[in-house]
Amino acid sequence: MITFKKPDEVEKMRRAGRVVAEVHNAMRQMIRPGVDTLSLDDEAERVLRKMSAGASFKGYRVHGIRTPFPSAICVSINEEVVHGVPSAERILRDGDIVSIDVGAIIDGYHGDAACTYPVGDISPERADLMSVTYKALCVGIEQAVVGRTIGDIGHAIEKWVLGNGCGIVREYSGHGIGRKLHEAPQVPNYGRPRSGMTLKPGMTFCIEPMVMSGREQVRSTGNGWTVVTCDGSDAAHFEHTLLLTEEGVEILTPWE
Ligand code: MG
Repeated sequence: MITFKKPDEVEKMRRAGRVVAEVHNAMRQMIRPGVDTLSLDDEAERVLRKMSAGASFKGYRVHGIRTPFPSAICVSINEEVVHGVPSAERILRDGDIVSIDVGAIIDGYHGDAACTYPVGDISPERADLMSVTYKALCVGIEQAVVGRTIGDIGHAIEKWVLGNGCGIVREYSGHGIGRKLHEAPQVPNYGRPRSGMTLKPGMTFCIEPMVMSGREQVRSTGNGWTVVTCDGSDAAHFEHTLLLTEEGVEILTPWE
């Protein structure tokens, strides 16, 4: 069921979104060679607590994975696409790219956003992948207009990504968001123009292209959570939580 948010609900989602943005700003300050990914998770938890928010991902259960997600954030490095689990043994190295996904809940409403960051000096290939993926998010957001469709968003993203010689992760999608972290509708990163649901005011959803530099195939690793590219190519991930109104689209998770 699609939920259309009332003004008081939108205000709560704005607050949750600002917390998510604040966590991202803290991550950006911290990311450098030599930092372990558990320290990033600890800092994220600290910011969430300071802002009286909960961690949407911690304890999240998915059908088919035995253990709930153990951490506040997902930290996915290089060939890891999404759902990387923070660990004291996992150290960021110069030249890595690291995708951080953050979810926050405040007064019963969620915000969700992801961003891929460079660690030290990265290769031109990795910089290109990041730029293609970020722009994929932007072209998706451009289609987030009342009267257009979910298919318009997916089509714009797919066309942009494939046109730049990259691949799309098709197994995971953007999603509605509100009282639940994942609500209807699904917002795939591919599609046909004018297909799918028509966008209406009051909808809140996440657009989140996940893009790889190589072949379009992913698999889960031994912990059940971390998803990697099958060919070991790099992946990047950018996401915003959005509100649709008659006036236009509002980004609820305004990380820089
Ligand atoms: Mg999401």
